[in-house]
Amino acid sequence: MTTITRFAPSPTGRLHVGNIRTALHNWMLAKKNGGRFLLRIDDTDAERSREEYVDAIRADLAWLGLDVDGEERQSLRLEKYQAAFDALLQAGRIYPAYETSQELDLKRKIQLGRGLPPIYDRGALNMTDAERAEKEAAGIAPHWRFKLDHSEAITWDDAVRGVQKFDASQLSDPVIRRADGSWLYMLPSAVDDLDMGVTDVLRGEDHVSNTAVQIQMFTALIAAQYAAAKMPRFAHEALLVGKEGKLSKRLGSLGCDAFRERDIEPQAIIAMLARLGTSLPVEPIADRSVLIDTFDLGKFGRAPARFDDAELDRVNAALVHQMDFAMAAPRLPEGMDEAGWHAIRPNLSHVSEAVDWWRLVIGPIDQPEFSDEDKAYVGEAASALEWSEDPWHGLTAAMKAATGRKGKQLFLPLRQALTGMDHGPDMGELLPLIGEAEARARLEQAAS
Ligand code: GLU
Repeated sequence: MTTITRFAPSPTGRLHVGNIRTALHNWMLAKKNGGRFLLRIDDTDAERSREEYVDAIRADLAWLGLDVDGEERQSLRLEKYQAAFDALLQAGRIYPAYETSQELDLKRKIQLGRGLPPIYDRGALNMTDAERAEKEAAGIAPHWRFKLDHSEAITWDDAVRGVQKFDASQLSDPVIRRADGSWLYMLPSAVDDLDMGVTDVLRGEDHVSNTAVQIQMFTALIAAQYAAAKMPRFAHEALLVGKEGKLSKRLGSLGCDAFRERDIEPQAIIAMLARLGTSLPVEPIADRSVLIDTFDLGKFGRAPARFDDAELDRVNAALVHQMDFAMAAPRLPEGMDEAGWHAIRPNLSHVSEAVDWWRLVIGPIDQPEFSDEDKAYVGEAASALEWSEDPWHGLTAAMKAATGRKGKQLFLPLRQALTGMDHGPDMGELLPLIGEAEARARLEQAAS
């Protein structure tokens, strides 16, 4: 059976790093098995969903290189949910309820006050027809609950967490539909997973108790309507936390815009999030097929995955150091060619810094004040400079022979005169880029 995974964001905001991680893992799981990765826009909440967020989600996935094999939208599938609703109502698995949210709050408070878990008491199930008719006559429309089967044990073998067991009687019958007819998340999601043939539901562990409830929905839907469909496998990954080990507000708003602003490569985000929270080391791996081949839900830990910005910066720098010219080229300063990129690349943490280092080549540069002795030394270098395949090594060998200088005394004044800096890219690569006339002019200028 072809693996089908889905990433199902609600378009009520921008993707954050936790969502991105879930999307990536679903994408990798599909790729690893030669399967399909679906984007499902969970936009049944018309109030809070925004088209601009749908566009932003698509753009972010594209920027990250997470290509989707299909896109679905819940708002275009309402008749499917209605059909499932009708079938489950027929099967006795859905019932109307009339409590107001104040009444429900009060019930919960009383239960908690008595030290009881705040489980819905199924008051609506005990209503008589007359009582229901009275509500209807008073113009009170019901909301709808899914009736859990208390006699059926809920269990699944979670690909990350292992065997999970829930007692249905310890869960509230979930509200699946509001009085105005609009849908809550639970039922549409289960309908879609069956209808779209999703084989693997991989999401954050904040959904574990939803899964317990949805497993009964899947079973009921398969029995009532989707005889050919199969229950998906489930995997719930530990949540992403900040470096300090706590769920952080900052991570909740850290997304692609912030990464782009910091000039972080999508590859770095992918390499890091692919393995964070697993037993595999986070490494600067640019080749996605390596990440996909080594992806394994069995290697995911139960402990929260710690996201550290400094680690992302390290991965980013390491990937920039191996980046091809062709890939960097669109973001490089004008005139910077492949040799320039190769000379400068090892000094970069981010591609955007290339422009600063390129200034050492094209100028103008700011030379430091030299001592009289060093002025004489670089002046001598101006005359000693001979252009060749490798002018830097020729120059330093000549200056060493002529002056007896070595080490820092030999190299530093030359570097400073030629670039204005006391550190930077390899001079052997840089000097040919500066060019003969400009190099001689710089040495003469420093000597004057
Ligand atoms: N729209 C849900 C969310 O954003 C999807 C959860 C799921 O993957 O089923 O949490």
